[in-house]
Amino acid sequence: MQLESFIPPSRVLMGPGPSDVSKRVLDAMARPTIGHLDPEFISMMDEIKKLLQYAFITKNELTFAVSAPGMAGMECSFANLVEEGDKVIICKNGFFGERMKENVERFGGVPIMVDDEWGKKIDLNKVEEALKNHPDAKIVAFVHAETSTGVMSDPKALTKLAHDHDCLSIVDTVTGLAGVPLKVDEWEIDAIYSGTQKCLSASPGLSPISFSNAAKEKIKNRKTKVKSWFLDLNLIMSYWEGEGGRSYHHTAPINALYGLHEALLILKEIGIENSWKKHMDNHLLLRKGLEDLGIDYLVNENDRLPQLNSIYIPDGIDDLESRKKLLNNYNLEIGAGLGALAGKIWRIGLMGQSSNKKNIDHCLESISKVI
Ligand SMILES: *Cc1c(COP(=O)(O)O)cnc(C)c1O
Repeated sequence: MQLESFIPPSRVLMGPGPSDVSKRVLDAMARPTIGHLDPEFISMMDEIKKLLQYAFITKNELTFAVSAPGMAGMECSFANLVEEGDKVIICKNGFFGERMKENVERFGGVPIMVDDEWGKKIDLNKVEEALKNHPDAKIVAFVHAETSTGVMSDPKALTKLAHDHDCLSIVDTVTGLAGVPLKVDEWEIDAIYSGTQKCLSASPGLSPISFSNAAKEKIKNRKTKVKSWFLDLNLIMSYWEGEGGRSYHHTAPINALYGLHEALLILKEIGIENSWKKHMDNHLLLRKGLEDLGIDYLVNENDRLPQLNSIYIPDGIDDLESRKKLLNNYNLEIGAGLGALAGKIWRIGLMGQSSNKKNIDHCLESISKVI
């Protein structure tokens, strides 16, 4: 068999992630690899930290990128904040809430599930009731931007509820960051994680996270060691923070971090608030086109994520067959429905670099050809 270099086809990425990565970010990743303890590299890591603080709108010192994808950010949050027997209220209104439950169980915690229908936002009244029924709960965990359904919940109100009942909040904003308003300090969020391949449009494989002082305090006062060696924040921080004497923890994904640095610079140049606005403007543009095609949204107008559009597949249209056509004939990737929504919805991502008029026109044109 003749093996050759892999040349990927040129796709338009309008699914639930990854999003299109700009040439500028790809060029940054192609620069020469240097040592991860090289002073030049270390000062770039310091800049990434500052740029992430900008993106999250936080002064949290404990802000950096975990060297693994979004799921590792989730695991890192639960591994460090959950101790044996801790009750954790998990708001589940889609796919990712279930994974939070798995995490809590594996780290010895007790998950208390608050369920909402897929496609609905998290109901504050139900969460409040759960907090009243479980006064010994320690944490409230929820997804800001549910990528499985395209629903946005309210991190500010949910964190306030958590604090009113002496709980910390853990927030999944893998799809939220840079796509919809998020103010970590102003909303007093305790632990939050994201991903690089959604609205930041860097390559997949890194997870920006940020922890408040209250969260740091809980980690410091743990009675037992964090059960994951790799994700133990006490160890990782001496790598990301070790002023002057950074000690070896693991070899950083050097070129991926060049890419994240560049993607964050692009975000800073655009401005975080303009980035939120761009996502909303392009969502409205796509929505208009979809409405003209007679296509309906799954989610109530007020609760929709601009960067993830869940739409009903028109009657009589074969899900798999048409997505195959979109990919093969139009180089267009969109997302399928998950769980009970499989075969019923498509998920059209307008994340980061993928959120632009050219993509929207291409998407509407291609969909009109397959329905
Ligand atoms: C994509 C996503 C994740 C997982 O991120 P990976 O980088 O795929 O590990 C977690 N939570 C939400 C809400 C996501 O959309």
